[in-house]
Amino acid sequence: MSGRRILLLGHPVEHSLSPAFQQAAFDSIGLPVKYEAMDVAPADLARVVAELRADPLVMGANVTVPHKEKIGPLLDSLIDDAVQIGAVNTITRAGSRLVGRNTDAAGFRGALDGLLDGRRTPRHALVLGAGGAAKAAISALVTAGVAQISIANRHLARAERLVAEVRKASPHLTVRAAPWHEGLLVEEAQIAGLVVHATTLGLNGGALPLPAAAFRAGQFVIDVVYAPGETALVRTARAAGAEAIDGREMLLLQGAAAFELWTGRPAPIAVMREAFDTAAKQNAK
Ligand code: NDP
Repeated sequence: MSGRRILLLGHPVEHSLSPAFQQAAFDSIGLPVKYEAMDVAPADLARVVAELRADPLVMGANVTVPHKEKIGPLLDSLIDDAVQIGAVNTITRAGSRLVGRNTDAAGFRGALDGLLDGRRTPRHALVLGAGGAAKAAISALVTAGVAQISIANRHLARAERLVAEVRKASPHLTVRAAPWHEGLLVEEAQIAGLVVHATTLGLNGGALPLPAAAFRAGQFVIDVVYAPGETALVRTARAAGAEAIDGREMLLLQGAAAFELWTGRPAPIAVMREAFDTAAKQNAK
């Protein structure tokens, strides 16, 4: 009996699918680790991080809304994508030190590669949103070889700040901010070979960020939002002939990357996928 634990820190966390698919992964390879969701109010975050650091049985954690950006300064170091994206979704332990990392870009890249299935990365991408998920997606798009990115956000100033960051990190890229105006977004989407939706719209059904006219055959669409069944954006894009996926693969693959960081072992993806789908069906009831 080891008592080793991995925690999911968020607020709220009760609907997260991560405990189901991470626990299935640990169980399937016989590692005695308990993956537990922990609802942490923002005011308690610093205390909880100090408690994790002091408990050597806590091997690490995942971090979700609303703590991804706030938790960085409470950790002992940040590495790799956590620095570039400015958000932490995974914590690993190095002795008594807690290290912040980000596997969302790796998850997005895996989802993109699955969608493209060996076909060439489109040169021009439109990204809707300028928050943490958009940053992770853009980081992955840069490594995937996209040459031109338009970033559209409801608050244009936030898109402009992100454009400045991306230009600094990747001067070879053509990147620009686009206003959140339906007519302009349709035009931008139509010329983009890849459309990425990374806002919170559509989380609980609700309004579509892009109308059907934005989509066409020969276009790839990734909605980072995950909702049981297909998201309305994915349905609309597919109906117009585009190849579209929702946030399921990204979610699974960011989890698989975190699992590999904690354990140093290959993630049992098939087991995780099956547990994810079973839990998603139960959540939808
Ligand atoms: P953030 O809070 O960092 O960013 C939210 C984004 O949504 C901003 O661009 C914001 O625009 C925009 N937004 C919010 N409300 C509206 C609205 N009414 N109309 C238009 N835009 C709006 O969130 P994240 O980036 O962390 O998360 C975004 C989505 O990505 C969530 O649905 C989350 O669940 C999903 N996600 C999925 C992952 C996966 O693995 N599949 C991983 C991480 C996130 P503004 O700046 O103008 O407020």
